[in-house]
Amino acid sequence: MIHNRSLLTKEWYMVPFTANCPDCGAQTRSAAVVVGPSSLVGDAGSEPESDILAKPRRTLDAFAVVEALGGQTEHVERSVVNRFHSTFAFVNGQLTSICEHCAENLPPAAIRSAVMNAFVRLGRKRLLVNERLMLFASEVVLTEFRGDTSIEESAMRDPDYALLLICDTESAIGETGIIEMWHSIARDDYAIVVKGHGGREMLRDAFNRDLKDVVATVSDLGLVLTQLHLAQASSPYCALARDLFLEALEHAGYRQAS
Ligand SMILES: [Zn+2]
Repeated sequence: MIHNRSLLTKEWYMVPFTANCPDCGAQTRSAAVVVGPSSLVGDAGSEPESDILAKPRRTLDAFAVVEALGGQTEHVERSVVNRFHSTFAFVNGQLTSICEHCAENLPPAAIRSAVMNAFVRLGRKRLLVNERLMLFASEVVLTEFRGDTSIEESAMRDPDYALLLICDTESAIGETGIIEMWHSIARDDYAIVVKGHGGREMLRDAFNRDLKDVVATVSDLGLVLTQLHLAQASSPYCALARDLFLEALEHAGYRQAS
């Protein structure tokens, strides 16, 4: 069990399960959040914008049930509670699964094994979908699955990403770094790699269908772009990517400082 860490992930699954409600005694359906191995955990209380360029987080390298989640949780309210409001609620600042009958919270001890079993069973049948939305919380408690837990995922094709753009970036507290933007034609995917001081890799983020998603991710991380460079100065492909990226930035409300 990992106590009180911050969590930053775009690999998480909504796992439906059935359990007995300790409050009303009835059997209830609800859901819980399981995060995947690429999730990043850091110091408790840290915000994505305060240290993404300064302090590396470590990858979880396992699946884990989110048992408690609190602190700074705007992302979670947007991605989870607003979409599944009869399943989750915030009680005393903590995200919790709730009973479908009495709406009381279902404590982790009462649902942990049901969630894990459901995750393994549904994962084997390829019935779980990575939500792929950015999820950030400053304080989480996670229970990791056994080391050998895996789920069936569709086969990955060769990662044939090409580096298109390199953006100089700055965090809210003035740390500088770069964001590399990669694209794969075969996978129709944009990926970004955030590097901090000295080129240390801080975050790798894929599964962005378009540049709008990339801009949303950059904005969620609280990063400001200061300079844009083409990965290859003479490449029309890179130039096109720059034009489209600037357009997406402008569309999202970014303005170029003159
Ligand atoms: Zn109940």
